[in-house]
Amino acid sequence: MKVGFTTSFPVEIIFAAGHIPIDLNNIFITAKPMLKITYSENEGIPRNICSWIKGIYNTVTSGDIRTVVGVVQGDCSNTHSLMSLFKDKGIEIITFSFPYHRDRQLLRQEIDRLAEYFEVNSTQIKEVKSELDSIREMLKALDRLTYQENKVSGRENHYWLVNSSDFFGDPAQFKNELSSFLQEAADRKPKTENIRLAYIGVPPIFTDFYDFFDQWDAAIVFNEVQRQFSMPSLHPHIIDQYTSFTYPYSAFERIDDILPELERRKIDGVISYSQAFCHRQIDNLLLKKYLKHPFLTIEGDLPVNLDERTKLRLESFLDMIRFSK
Ligand code: SF4
Repeated sequence: MKVGFTTSFPVEIIFAAGHIPIDLNNIFITAKPMLKITYSENEGIPRNICSWIKGIYNTVTSGDIRTVVGVVQGDCSNTHSLMSLFKDKGIEIITFSFPYHRDRQLLRQEIDRLAEYFEVNSTQIKEVKSELDSIREMLKALDRLTYQENKVSGRENHYWLVNSSDFFGDPAQFKNELSSFLQEAADRKPKTENIRLAYIGVPPIFTDFYDFFDQWDAAIVFNEVQRQFSMPSLHPHIIDQYTSFTYPYSAFERIDDILPELERRKIDGVISYSQAFCHRQIDNLLLKKYLKHPFLTIEGDLPVNLDERTKLRLESFLDMIRFSK
């Protein structure tokens, strides 16, 4: 059975139950995303609701996924209403909540509830986690090839890390493909871009975002949220793994993760992406306050190429960094 989900959650449980987890965001953004948004708006979802929500809605209601895990705390307040729409369409909905204060006991209860629903025990979950962790270890190597050896581009880094939310629904295939990629990348000559950038925030909706930097002697060597999806802490216990996952918690947990990475990766500037109509835009106030690197906020709305105004702002930002180096 395919089990769709709205953001990263303990996916180990779905694999342990023998089902196929599908990150609905990844399906939406890779197959005719504009059309999906238009269909959702035609059904009445307002224009001023985030495009990811409209994309996820159409992905489920026009496809063959009949069961969805909605993360109703720790991700997006829109998910509450989205779950109601799914229920109305006869979709089986299961909710998952990350506790606001990173409370281990509350998180354990949520994980136990999910495990009970899918009828899996802790031994089965541990076995799956161990297999997934071996892939996550490889993703850490991929990340090092990005920021230490300069052999993996920001686009490639994004691709592998963002897809680690569901491992293509097939961890064995993911592992094989990743293994081949790592072998090929290790043999490359290091890239020589002069400006090193961090990308923070939810994955960009722009279709050509990473391509833009190729012509500007700049490289993205840190993809914050995508890296979080790959669970880099590698804690042996599942509860610790999902309490150290910063994305569902407050801006302060994110800042604690981002600050040392900016130093480790010798970052020259930070690009903070916000999705139009997203509550996470408010986090930018704190991110900007506590991250002392040059900081640029950009906003995306639809899955289209970068607009001229955003390109101009990026160019000016890169020029400013270049002159100050
Ligand atoms: S980008 Fe923001 S508003 Fe859109 S789905 Fe994600 S959390 Fe929700």
